Amino acid sequence: MLIVPEREIADLMTREAAFAAVEKVFAAMAAGDAYNFPVVREAIGHEDALYGFKGGFDRSGLTLGLKAGGYWPNNLEKRGIINHQSTVFLFDPDTGKARAMVGGNLLTALRTAAASSVSIRHLAREDARVIGMVGAGHQATFQLRAALEQRDFDKVIGWNLHPEMLPNLEKVAAEAGVPFEAVELTGMREADVIISITSSFDAILMAEHVSPGCHIACMGTDTKGKQEVSPALLAKATVFTDEVAQSVSIGEAQHAVAQGLIDESAITQLGAVINGAHPGRRSAEEITLFDGTGVGLQDLAVAAAVVDLAVEKGIAIEVDF
Ligand code: NAD
Repeated sequence: MLIVPEREIADLMTREAAFAAVEKVFAAMAAGDAYNFPVVREAIGHEDALYGFKGGFDRSGLTLGLKAGGYWPNNLEKRGIINHQSTVFLFDPDTGKARAMVGGNLLTALRTAAASSVSIRHLAREDARVIGMVGAGHQATFQLRAALEQRDFDKVIGWNLHPEMLPNLEKVAAEAGVPFEAVELTGMREADVIISITSSFDAILMAEHVSPGCHIACMGTDTKGKQEVSPALLAKATVFTDEVAQSVSIGEAQHAVAQGLIDESAITQLGAVINGAHPGRRSAEEITLFDGTGVGLQDLAVAAAVVDLAVEKGIAIEVDF
């Protein structure tokens, strides 16, 4: 079995490789070649931790496995380590033998940023120039860095419930040589692309905050009860997702579907656009919305890519197992 420790991931994995892996597995999902297993997520009654598994099998890429991990809210304060902890396990689909164990913390941020980037590549207007960020935490910086590579953006605007966190975005924008401006939510009307990535349980972004032609990537809502955008905005938009079953149960669409504003059948897998089975954006005025819920196959895809890179560079640790 091969081990790729968390400390090696930063030097091995690139945004480009994460993008390619996620785009490919989204396409495989839409083609029926890859599927996710039901998600397990449990409050374990110890350290207030939420622990679970996200797994799946990609028949086309022959990637089988799971990501195990979750959220330990006391980690940072008590132990000086990050609260989100995860590990990816890959198995040989021919034999069932464990193939690799890979640190999953940085990979989670990279695969989540890759998902919104894939949506921007395939759904945003080609002439998109202003990108708006709702959220300024850990994931937001990864999201912005990856998104800035998808179009010729010349301005970043940002809003966050906690404005003292906005310099996180400003720093990423500065690194890319793009000016940053903090705005009120109404200022988001200037944006051609908006990414929301918060831990909100109430709608932040309303229909009146978004201009025609905008592409919105909703990335924060990954649990029942969470919410970032108003159901009315979803009803106005053409909705795409990584996986429809997750979108309507734990994703942003859960609220609009529950209120009867949109039907599950109107939600399209982004992979269908990648495969050419769906045309994607149909006009310059259409609002497109990607509900990125985060699927196990994304984790497996980036982990498999990192194992290949680690083997290539001779830094995968081999253990007899
Ligand atoms: P973080 O703690 O670093 O940042 C949280 C962000 O949410 C900050 O911008 C904060 O100001 C904002 N926020 C907190 N409470 C809020 C509230 N009540 N209303 C509005 N905004 C609020 O967290 P992070 O690591 O950046 O994660 C952000 C979100 O992304 C989390 O909800 C996480 O579960 C989700 N996430 C989704 C995926 C996916 O695949 N879709 C993957 C990883 C993380």
